[in-house]
Amino acid sequence: MKIGTTHLFVPGPTTVPEVVRRAMNVPMEDHRAPDLPDFVLDLLADLQRVFRLPEGRVLLFPGSGTGAWEAAISNCLSRGDRVLMSRYGHFSHLWVDMARRLGLDVVCHDVAWGEGVPVEAYERELRVDPSIRAVFVTHNETATGVTSDVRAVRRAMDAAGSDALLFVDGVSSIASLDFRQEDWGVDVAVAGSQKGFMLPAGLAMLGVSEKALEAAERTTTERCYFAFRDMLAANDVGYFPYTPPLPLLHGLRASVDRLLDEGMDDVVARHHRLAEGVRHGVKAWGLDLCAMSPRWYSDTVTAVRLPHGVDGAEVCRIAYHRYRTSFGGGLGQVAGRVFRIGHLGDVNEVSCLTALAAAEMALLDAGVDLVAGAGVAAAQAYYRQALADEEVGRGPTSSAAPRARLAAAR
Ligand SMILES: *Cc1c(COP(=O)(O)O)cnc(C)c1O
Repeated sequence: MKIGTTHLFVPGPTTVPEVVRRAMNVPMEDHRAPDLPDFVLDLLADLQRVFRLPEGRVLLFPGSGTGAWEAAISNCLSRGDRVLMSRYGHFSHLWVDMARRLGLDVVCHDVAWGEGVPVEAYERELRVDPSIRAVFVTHNETATGVTSDVRAVRRAMDAAGSDALLFVDGVSSIASLDFRQEDWGVDVAVAGSQKGFMLPAGLAMLGVSEKALEAAERTTTERCYFAFRDMLAANDVGYFPYTPPLPLLHGLRASVDRLLDEGMDDVVARHHRLAEGVRHGVKAWGLDLCAMSPRWYSDTVTAVRLPHGVDGAEVCRIAYHRYRTSFGGGLGQVAGRVFRIGHLGDVNEVSCLTALAAAEMALLDAGVDLVAGAGVAAAQAYYRQALADEEVGRGPTSSAAPRARLAAAR
């Protein structure tokens, strides 16, 4: 007999908080009800705060992140448009594949898995090829646990004098990592409901700048279900062009309330602190990350490289069957060679310690040579210090001054 829950540490779908789950448990209602616009217009306006997009619009389509990729391309670009992309993991590979299948002329830079967007190569490419209409970045490559510098890509575009649109896959970053659509000059940002938004899959979300909305008026790609124009016209008066998944939208209302109550800066700080603790744990095991240097470390997912002879799929199988804990396996090029710990959404220090404890047991059982408890202990030490530092009004730091203050406070 199975008692208790199966612990979910895959990087999406993530754990749905009780308050969000309850908010979705509503009787079916009329999606043309006269008072629906009050709900819809507030929700869309608050989503712009999550995307940090004061101008422009947030659009919601029934679908997953992949649907949002397609909506982004089919609305804002035309067949044959030349675009600059790069791939460094399973998800960035899939977006390149989709762009080609939708008829774009893709200039693709292949980067070693474990690194992120090649900003200098992008800038060189943009300087020699002014015909590039759009630049694509996978902000957080969920397959390798790598976060790229979106702001630097915008700077490179500006330096090269490019007026291309900037497309960002933020499926595993928006609502958890620092993301500032307007400040960073992102024209189309793509998200999905089942990661940082702590909901079931089912909503494809897009933040679209004024510039991209204008571009969408001139493009010629066929689109119908995903047409921005139809969605915007209906949204303008607080409705949708077809039946929306209202229970999911009520869940989204609750999740956005939670995010905004915590504050987007605090959401980002929490994800950073939790991820640091997980990384301390991995280091104590003596294992390496898939991310090749600290500049690429992701605060929403940690991909851990396994020693030769240890199969990542086996680690996940043991964790799942023996310890009722789900981790992400390796995808594509790194299948079998890594396993991934998702730490985004409704997570805190103790849930991350749970993940580390389960991973330690599964790793030991799979034949990895490590000291039982070492990872958990390292993360505990980190979290205790980080939270104590925070209580005295300072972020975690290794410099002496705040420590003295901490001692004084005690
Ligand atoms: C999960 C994910 C996707 C795909 O989203 P689906 O909702 O599964 O379609 C795309 N990009 C990234 C970076 C992801 O993490």
